Amino acid sequence: MIINGLDRDGETFEADVCIAGAGAAGLTLALHLADAGVSVILIESGGLKFAWRTHKLLDVIVNGASGGALLAGSRERFFGGTTNHWGGVCRAFDAYEFEQHPWVDHSGWPITRADLDPYYAAAAQWLGLPEVDRAFDPGALQVQSHPPLINATETAFSSVIWRRVPADRVQLGVWQRDAVARSKRLTCVVNTSVAELHTDPSGQRVVSVEGRNLDGKTLRFRARDFVLCTGAIENARLLLASDSVVPGGLGNEHDVVGRYFMSHEGRLLGFLMGNPALPVSREEALAKSELVGWATSTAARREHRLRGMMAFLHSGAPRKLDGELALGSLQRPPVAPAAVRDNDRRWSVLLNMEQSPNPQSRVTLSEMRDVLGVRKPALANMVPAEDMQSLRKSAELLALAVARSGLGRLQLADLSTPKDKVGGHQMGTTRMSSDPRQGVTNADARVHSVENLFIGGGSLFPTSGWQHPTFTIITLAIRLAHHLTKRHQGAA
Ligand SMILES: Cc1cc2nc3c(=O)[nH]c(=O)nc-3n(C[C@H](O)[C@H](O)[C@H](O)COP(=O)(O)OP(=O)(O)OC[C@H]3O[C@@H](n4cnc5c(N)ncnc54)[C@H](O)[C@@H]3O)c2cc1C
Repeated sequence: MIINGLDRDGETFEADVCIAGAGAAGLTLALHLADAGVSVILIESGGLKFAWRTHKLLDVIVNGASGGALLAGSRERFFGGTTNHWGGVCRAFDAYEFEQHPWVDHSGWPITRADLDPYYAAAAQWLGLPEVDRAFDPGALQVQSHPPLINATETAFSSVIWRRVPADRVQLGVWQRDAVARSKRLTCVVNTSVAELHTDPSGQRVVSVEGRNLDGKTLRFRARDFVLCTGAIENARLLLASDSVVPGGLGNEHDVVGRYFMSHEGRLLGFLMGNPALPVSREEALAKSELVGWATSTAARREHRLRGMMAFLHSGAPRKLDGELALGSLQRPPVAPAAVRDNDRRWSVLLNMEQSPNPQSRVTLSEMRDVLGVRKPALANMVPAEDMQSLRKSAELLALAVARSGLGRLQLADLSTPKDKVGGHQMGTTRMSSDPRQGVTNADARVHSVENLFIGGGSLFPTSGWQHPTFTIITLAIRLAHHLTKRHQGAA
């Protein structure tokens, strides 16, 4: 059932589980719980469509002023969340990403890839993806007559393929809207923003959540368990803002909430010049809804102390080297066939670079309040200098490997400084760790110091990997649904 919160005032809703945020994590979790027989309330700040007045609730303070430009186009605040304009590109994290890397401070997850394997498989099935990992496979692409994307003798990079979610499932809010509306166990209240979590006097148990809307009305939500799925910045903001009982905010006894904010250095790497004889044409890649490209090998990461990096051939129109790539607009632009044919002599190559976990890169609360009276978050995104060195070294290694493989000349863009915009892959502010001094949540995604408060989304990630995050966000949400279902059946 979907209820418009603007039509209600002063009511209390109750369910087994209460979830804040109907984006990738929240919708996945809510639907899987309801399917398993658990009653759910899903609270969504926005309506069923985009609206500026709710979008403005995402404002973040940067250097004391409204930071709209820094984060523009990186998040959405309505039913379906940022899946309303994501690219749908999916790839599972490799086992290596979960390990501790001695040259990356604060790396290592409290879970392994094997822990996630069954949930990755479930996520792939749910999203309509044929498989979760894929090396470059000319046979499957039916391009056997073409050369490989990189010579087998190259050790620094391997070629990989990313899958895209089928077009009719990309926008989770559009794909799942009818299922939510029809569900008997799931009540979704839209146009209602969670403003504060209220605990019992011990501060160790959430009792209710307060929802406010832009017409000045208030709703209350009670449940046995609560889950925040509002995105990495907003998850931290809500924990910090819930400080009526616990000074400094929920889960923040060790001053970790909001720290280790990470995003990917998603940008133009350069151009592959000279009419390269590539193994797959843009049209073939697009038709198969795949991206093809390269990822740094684990051997090279160990040898050169590198962060993970992926680079892929961009199927859109090549851009100017001196122009910032226009990633992210309010509405996702369709890929026009004309755009992919406009230049056949070069391909643009885009990259995603892992950002290392850094405790100084953080979300805090500012003194300014939004129209609902909630303190606005402040963001200091600090990309460590080692990450930029790693980026340049990785780009050089890739250019050499590509040249040796006879694919053409990779003309590199200026990679001297971090991007001045934060990308759409936002992670790390409520990271998992088995040590409460190093992380906000445990391996089950439960806030260490609050017995019935859980987190969903990229804020759980201890490291950011090079892979796009959302497939893992959805996988973790399915895993959490499994855990909470057992808990509500008395088995966990
Ligand atoms: C341009 C762009 C392209 C991208 N492409 C890819 C890609 O190809 N592959 C990939 O893996 N990732 C991609 N991403 C990232 C992807 O969109 C996010 O990782 C993903 O949507 C995060 O899921 P989430 O559920 O944590 O947050 P969201 O999807 O943002 O959902 C959060 C929800 O919480 C709601 N909310 C916020 N605050 C409150 C509150 N106080 N009360 C109630 N509700 C609230 C919001 O309205 C929203 O619906 C892209 C992002 C952008 C911007």
